[in-house]
Amino acid sequence: MTESIARQLLGLLSFTLAGAVLGFFTSHNLILGALFGSLLWSILSSLLNAKLVTWLDQNLSSPDPKLPFEQGRIVRSIANYRNKTEAEYDEIHADMDQFQAATSAMKDAIVIIDNQDNIEWWNNAAEEILEITIEQKHKRVQEVFSEPNFLEFYSQSSHIASFKADSADQKRVLEYRVESFGEGDKVLIVRDISESEKVGLMRHTFLANASHELRTPITVIHGYLETLQEQELPKPIQKAIHSMQSQSSRMAALIADLLTLSRLETSSENKSRKPIFIREMLNGITEEAKDVSGPKQHQISLNMDEGFDILGNEGEVRSALSNLVFNAVRYTPANGVIDIALEKLDNGVQFSVTDTGVGIPAEHIPRITERFYRVDEGRSRDSGGTGLGLAIVKHVLVRHNAKLGVTSKPGEGSRFSVTFPESRVVKI
Ligand code: ADP
Repeated sequence: MTESIARQLLGLLSFTLAGAVLGFFTSHNLILGALFGSLLWSILSSLLNAKLVTWLDQNLSSPDPKLPFEQGRIVRSIANYRNKTEAEYDEIHADMDQFQAATSAMKDAIVIIDNQDNIEWWNNAAEEILEITIEQKHKRVQEVFSEPNFLEFYSQSSHIASFKADSADQKRVLEYRVESFGEGDKVLIVRDISESEKVGLMRHTFLANASHELRTPITVIHGYLETLQEQELPKPIQKAIHSMQSQSSRMAALIADLLTLSRLETSSENKSRKPIFIREMLNGITEEAKDVSGPKQHQISLNMDEGFDILGNEGEVRSALSNLVFNAVRYTPANGVIDIALEKLDNGVQFSVTDTGVGIPAEHIPRITERFYRVDEGRSRDSGGTGLGLAIVKHVLVRHNAKLGVTSKPGEGSRFSVTFPESRVVKI
């Protein structure tokens, strides 16, 4: 800025001086010449400024004027700025076109929602899958999507990863996800998962039917083996029968677990809100655990807070908690300690089993609730497990809005906890 002022002053000074010199040589009048020079500079500056303003008034659309002096500099720097902005604009435009083309090609519906829950933008798939129309632009999500389960999911989207529901015309199954970005804005991504659901259902039906069909033959085989074992038979045959019996027991347990799992998979939440008499249940499980422990002589203790009960499905919760307790018995060497506890927390109730068993290396913990996932294949099989126990636990807990916690140190022991939310607790 100071440079620009200096240049303007220099211009004025040059014209004034040139006028003075001219005045002196033509009429020996230095002052008149200087005045004439400065007047000429002012008129010239005004003319150039007028040209500059006209160009600016035309939004820089006419060709860049070729102006001398400071005005020429102004034209050049504005033109440079304009060219740079145009290049950036073209780049943004190209990116936008590419983004539009990419989102149009996507099969998933994408809806952008601002921090006031207004629908701002969507892609072509959203029009097809969610039937969003242009009239719904800037409308609130709560007005456009009326399904109560979706709205419940949307309002707590930070806690739940995804939500499945039938489409409005009931013809497809949709999976909804909501991700946050920017300052409270959200993107809703909806995928048509009808095909994978169909395959999943077929797999599930097959597994349920196969398990069901296998149950009767295995019960018959098991029964005959039991009868045979009571007979006086040669030693090698007795040994074979004993081995067949233990394998058929394993198979029966496996089938029972597969059937339990397939039943649990059919719905996402157990709506049952009956008190399940948790204290009697845990007393029973602890006694059974002592029986299972048998010669291993574990020290098994049970500590329970009073004054509340858990709401849910008794059979399912028993199956989950007993799986955790029996695992502790299975994976804890003889004379180990197993503490079972039920604690009232500020915002729920926590059941836990702490053992001094073999423990689980950290890298396995995220995967132990997968079906048939075993940390140590040989040890698990020897211990009589089916490999489905923790998968059953996971499903039961999801259906009861409860959370599984696992902490473990190899060689030192493990702690499995189940936290039931306050909504699943009743005072007694
Ligand atoms: P399994 O029938 O093999 O016990 P689960 O699903 O119940 O199957 O458990 C999965 C795996 O997690 C087990 O194979 C075992 O390696 C590990 N595990 C579960 N509970 C414990 C525990 N209390 N201590 C050590 N390892 C455990």
